[in-house]
This record gives sequence, C-alpha cells and structure tokens, in this order.
Amino acid sequence: MTEEGFHGSYASARLPQYCSACGHPLQLVRPHGEERERHWCAACGRIHYVNPTPVAAVLPVHEGRVLLLRRAIAPRAGTWVFPGGFIEWGETAEQAAMREAREEVGIDVTLAGVIGVYSRPGPGVIIAVWQGAVAVPSARPGPEASEVVWFSPEDIPWDDLAFDTTEQALRDWVARRDR
Ligand SMILES: [Zn+2]
Repeated sequence: MTEEGFHGSYASARLPQYCSACGHPLQLVRPHGEERERHWCAACGRIHYVNPTPVAAVLPVHEGRVLLLRRAIAPRAGTWVFPGGFIEWGETAEQAAMREAREEVGIDVTLAGVIGVYSRPGPGVIIAVWQGAVAVPSARPGPEASEVVWFSPEDIPWDDLAFDTTEQALRDWVARRDR
C-alpha cells in the first residue's frame, strides 16, 4: 500500500455502503443485544463490522538524528512525516515498517523497539511506530516525497508536520532520547 492510500483513508474512514455478499444497500441498525449500531443488509441479513485499519511506520534514526520526508502529494503536501503505510496481506507489521522505509525514503532500517501505538476515533486507523536503526544514512526521496532530511531533535519542523500522530510519535521519541 502506498503512502497515498494510507493518508487517503486517514482523512476519511471508509464505511461500507453496499453488502459485499449480495450488493444490497446497507442500513444502520442496532442489533438485538448489541450496544451500538451496525451496518446491516436487509436483503441477506449479514452484519458488516467496521474496524480501524492498522498502519505500520518507522522513525529512521542515525547518530541522534531522525529522517523525515516532505510530502509531495495531497493531503498535506509540503509537510513532513516519517515513512509508514498499510500492512499488506502476508507480511508482519514489522516487515511493513521496514518495507515502507525502503519504498518511501530508500533506506534499510533495523527495528529497535516500539516508540508507541497511536489512534483516535475519526480517521479509522491505528498506527504502530517503531524506531529504526540505520547503518548507512544514504536516503533518497521516493515518488511521493519531494525531499528527505535528517533532523536533530532541536531542528524538527514542529509547525509543519503532516498529522497529529506524526507529532505525537516524534515527541515520544525525543522524550525517550532525553531519559
Ligand atoms: Zn446482503
């Protein structure tokens, strides 16, 4: 999954409108014994459960600096973020984080612990962020980035980060370094 896909669903949770089994339009009902509304097909009776989508991301780190990419595409073009995206079927979350680093900034990382797991109700994603150790800091922007830059903690562009989860993870990384 590309970063564009990840951030596309980040902007608006994708809710089902039609039954994937029979194609009938879905309606919101509260099934007997349940405490919340579900997407329900009146034609075949199927309930379509909607859950947040997991995303894997990594903060590439080399000699105390973190690698961020500047987004070349909407949404939030021109802002800074770290590599991340949807986990593909057949790979682990860790493999996805390492793959996104290769695809988006052209770098190999060795995962070195989880920085945090972040979610909020609106976007419909839950994002796990690892720290990634980098042996050779030769990064290059992928097709969806205009540039890649290694930032010291004091140089992180806090006012130009892409998403609230970007800021949360970077603040947790800085706090972890300071401990
Ligand atoms: Zn149906």
